[in-house]
Order: sequence, then structure tokens, then C-alpha cells
Amino acid sequence: MSALLSVTDAHVAYGKVEAVRAVSLDVAENEIVTIIGANGAGKTTLLNAVMGILPLKGRAALAGEDLAPLEIEDRVASGLSLVPEHRELFAAMNVEDNLELGAFRAAKGQSKNSFERVYTLFPRLKERRKQLAGTLSGGEQQMLAMGRALMGAPKLLMLDEPSLGLAPIIVADIFRTIGELRASGVSVLLVEQNAQAALKIADRAYVMELGEFILSGQAADIAANARVAASYLGFTHEGESRI
Ligand code: ATP
Repeated sequence: MSALLSVTDAHVAYGKVEAVRAVSLDVAENEIVTIIGANGAGKTTLLNAVMGILPLKGRAALAGEDLAPLEIEDRVASGLSLVPEHRELFAAMNVEDNLELGAFRAAKGQSKNSFERVYTLFPRLKERRKQLAGTLSGGEQQMLAMGRALMGAPKLLMLDEPSLGLAPIIVADIFRTIGELRASGVSVLLVEQNAQAALKIADRAYVMELGEFILSGQAADIAANARVAASYLGFTHEGESRI
């Protein structure tokens, strides 16, 4: 299977400090891939570099096209989208106007389809379309941030900590929607500290520690790994020794 996103030997630094070192990953079409890891492991840094917010040394390509020469908005036009960790909505604008901003490159007709698609995925946003983003609940704000990213009709959606600060019932809702996205043909690269939820929904996973990937594989195998269980899932598998 050819990769939709392919990152090879990526390094990302803040000044002299390398926050991401020699990382390679790929995401195939119709795949959900998760990167799990503790606070400060470098997950956000990696996503930001793939999006073009931070400089990436190494190679990142989308559907075979080298991303290096592309500005952020050209990456969006190529089918890449990022929902940032802190959602970055325009609090004083309503739901509809926030969504419209996500469609800034789309033709009029396409933007109408995108609204319909987002409102089908998140009926709550349709109900609240005239409400100011700043007055939405945390869960609704996450839905809006995802909806805005989807307005550009991405092939690959990168989600940075979508569960952050949300109640478990809302997290379940968001994760169910991520599954629906894949079913509709969007691939997902999911960064999460909620490893349990992420490994349940993902096809494959990478485990990141101190800027490097220390393990990768099928999500079910990663979830069954003794070290992952002890470090990230909060339990040890019976009869297994930690590695
Ligand atoms: P979190 O879930 O807390 O965001 P993370 O895995 O996404 O964790 P990053 O935010 O990518 O980790 O941080 C990776 C490393 O880079 C950390 O050591 C962090 O302190 C450092 N770092 C992050 N942002 C900056 C910055 N703007 N300037 C300098 N160092 C930074």
C-alpha cells in the first residue's frame, strides 16, 4: 500500500535543542495512525513541522509530493489539515463564520457541500450555528475545530490531543466521529495522551519518548505491549515482564 503521508528521518529543533530526532512514519489511505507518548515527548512539535509551522529537517511528502517547498496554505490546498491542541477558534465569531474561515480556499459550491458534510457529522454545530464560538462547551469547541479543518476537504487530518480537557462521554463522541471520518475516506494522524482511547480506534501506532519513536506496530500489538501498558495504560499485563 502506498503511503498518503510519508515522513522520513525528520528532525525538528527549537534553536539548538532537538525536540524531534530521526523520526520516520507513514499513514496510508483510509488509515488511522496514532502517536502516543508522555507530555513533552515531541508529538505536537512533529505535527506542527509536518504542517509547516516549524521547519522540518528530513523529508515529508503527501501523496508523493514533497511538502518542503509548500507554504502552510498550499499544504492545506494539497489536502493536509491540522486541528491544533488549543483549538484556536475565533471566540467572538459564531460557529458558521469560524467554519467559513476553514473554507477560504474553496469555491462557493464546494463550500456549501462542506457545510452540509460538517453539519451531518456534527449536528450540534448546526443547532448552534449562530452561537459565538467562545460560549460553546469544550466538546462543542473541539467539534468546531475539527469541522473547520474539514471545510478544506482534507485527505489527511492531523488531530492534536482532541480529548484534552473533555469529559469521558464527550471523548467517546469525538472518537466515534474520528472513526466515521475514516469511513468517509479521510485518513487521520492522531496525537493523544489518552493512549487507551487512541489505541482502541487506531490501525497502527507509534510510541514517542524524548523526541524519538521507540516502538511502532499494529495498535492492538502496541496495546498488548507490557511496557506500553505499564507506562501509558496504567496497568501491567498479567504474566508479562516489563521490557
Ligand atoms: P504535550 O502533550 O505536552 O504538548 P508533546 O509530546 O506534544 O507534549 P511538544 O509540545 O512537542 O511535546 O514538546 C517537545 C519538547 O520541545 C519539550 O521538551 C518542550 O519543552 C519543547 N518545546 C516545545 N515548544 C517549544 C518552544 N516553543 N520553544 C522551545 N522548546 C519547546
